[in-house]
Amino acid sequence: MRKKIVAGNWKMNNDLAHTESLISDLKKQKNTSVAEVMIAPTFTNLWMAFESLRQSDIEVIAQNMHFAESGAYTGEISAKMLKSIGVTTVILGHSERRAYFNETNELLAKKVDAALDNDMSVIYCFGEELSDRKSGKEEDVVKSQISEALFHLPKEAFKSIVLAYEPVWAIGTGETASPEQAQDMHAFIRKTLAEKYGEDVADSVSILYGGSVKPDNAKEIFSKPDVDGGLIGGASLKADDFFAIVNAF
Ligand code: PEP
Repeated sequence: MRKKIVAGNWKMNNDLAHTESLISDLKKQKNTSVAEVMIAPTFTNLWMAFESLRQSDIEVIAQNMHFAESGAYTGEISAKMLKSIGVTTVILGHSERRAYFNETNELLAKKVDAALDNDMSVIYCFGEELSDRKSGKEEDVVKSQISEALFHLPKEAFKSIVLAYEPVWAIGTGETASPEQAQDMHAFIRKTLAEKYGEDVADSVSILYGGSVKPDNAKEIFSKPDVDGGLIGGASLKADDFFAIVNAF
């Protein structure tokens, strides 16, 4: 059975006080879901969030990391640093990292390697732009984002990889891919994995959908057979909304 996951990406939101208060609200929520729940606070609040949620069923994960172990990379954070505070999962390749920080598939391949070398799990994000979809290139774009960053890996590596399909036109825009669009792309991703690594790997990798998932559309999106959960941005900043999405599973 594939893991079901709902992960909240808090992005560059919430200072220390807000993080404390949101975590305290999250702790009051009733979790009736079969999904694993994760939150990704900003780096400065990771340790506090990790400590505060240590006894809970919410995993604290990172939004990004550098590929090097240490050295002259001002402003960066390494896998070892994340591991040293107990964080063992990292989001890589978010479209905002690709768009504003020029992260390429080639760079992401190095980050994925660094995470796996440090026994971390990766939520690898990718997705097409609106112009790609309008010109019918969405599958080609998604295939190259997956193959260029991940297809150098051995089969076993996929035990530590979760994929997150996030069409750029649906992130933070209020526009969601229809459940059918999400299902079609997730099925295509699984087929692409099967062609390279075989059906066993394709069937075992969780594929999350991200892009304006909200309490009122989560159930329908999550009901699709190839959608194994969600990566949630805006709606993860309110405990009630986030748990309404989590409990949609
Ligand atoms: C995201 O940033 O990963 C995301 C899905 O954002 P939102 O839910 O706000 O569209």
